[in-house]
Amino acid sequence: EAKRAGRGIVRVFDESMDESIRFRRLIESGLSQAIRNGELKLVFQPIVAREKLEVTGFEALLRWHSPEYGMISPGMFIPIAEESNLIHELGDWVIDEAVRVLQTWPGQYVSVNFSPRQFRRSNFVGHIVERVQHRGVSPQRFQIEITETAIFDDAERAADTLYRLRQMGFRIALDDFGTGYSSLYNIRKFALDSLKIDRSFVDGMGKERESAAIVHSIIHLGRALGLEVVAEGVETETQLQALRVAGCSHLQGYYLARPMPEEDALFLAKARYMIDDEADVEEEGEF
Ligand code: C2E
Ligand code: MG
Ligand code: MG
Ligand code: MG
Repeated sequence: EAKRAGRGIVRVFDESMDESIRFRRLIESGLSQAIRNGELKLVFQPIVAREKLEVTGFEALLRWHSPEYGMISPGMFIPIAEESNLIHELGDWVIDEAVRVLQTWPGQYVSVNFSPRQFRRSNFVGHIVERVQHRGVSPQRFQIEITETAIFDDAERAADTLYRLRQMGFRIALDDFGTGYSSLYNIRKFALDSLKIDRSFVDGMGKERESAAIVHSIIHLGRALGLEVVAEGVETETQLQALRVAGCSHLQGYYLARPMPEEDALFLAKARYMIDDEADVEEEGEF
């Protein structure tokens, strides 16, 4: 009995290994075709300023609608692309598309996610300049979102890259802040415009004191360093108000708006304000 069960487990395990390898291969071969077949799309989620909920920018998020497999989430295929040079092909498509859509908006910036491998490619700066600035886009309207993982492995080189980009006017955001292994001390070495508080902390805010304390600390840190602080994953009115009261400068999340197609983003970009908000939000203490 036990022996049979044991064999069963081994077999199931082997099959699931096969599955995951098969899945990986499908993704790899499917992705570069997907670009050519027009199966990729960007959606845009507004980033909104604290006081009047003005839409100051949009984060570009990648979507893959596969005719065979349906919607595949970037959390699934980006890590696979990241393991090969596919990420560059994919990343360049994203930049080009973001630049195209950006040119239809009245003044907002687009915030584009870059994986560590993209960021670490040789001559990243030249690459961005060529694909963005040389197409007549003002660097102030193009934000580069990177995670702590991308910059802390080779901090010297990353600091230099960010410095040069920022000198030219590109915006830099540190994404998912608080989840990586950056030391607070090191943060000051990097030329940044924005810290994005990971949504796990925002989610935990009303649940446990620790998360609320972390959120408040990041807000204070950002302010002290003269950075924008964006709370990600704002899902409720309660979170929204708590973050505004805490002095969090910018907000992003389903409660304000889900990632949306290009046409809707354009409409919102022109309207400029998220909702007609008459509530006066008092700030806590002095900063
Ligand atoms: P991210 O950059 O941290 O993006 C935020 C993710 O949170 C997005 O998931 C967004 O749809 C989701 N989100 C926004 N508001 C809320 C909310 O209120 N509640 C919840 N539960 N989720 C919210 P998405 O679009 O599935 O993207 C997942 C990740 O995939 C991104 O995390 C980013 O790391 C990566 N990614 C997406 N697009 C690109 C891309 O063009 N290039 C690269 N390199 N990575 C990308
Ligand atoms: Mg992001
Ligand atoms: Mg994030
Ligand atoms: Mg994330």
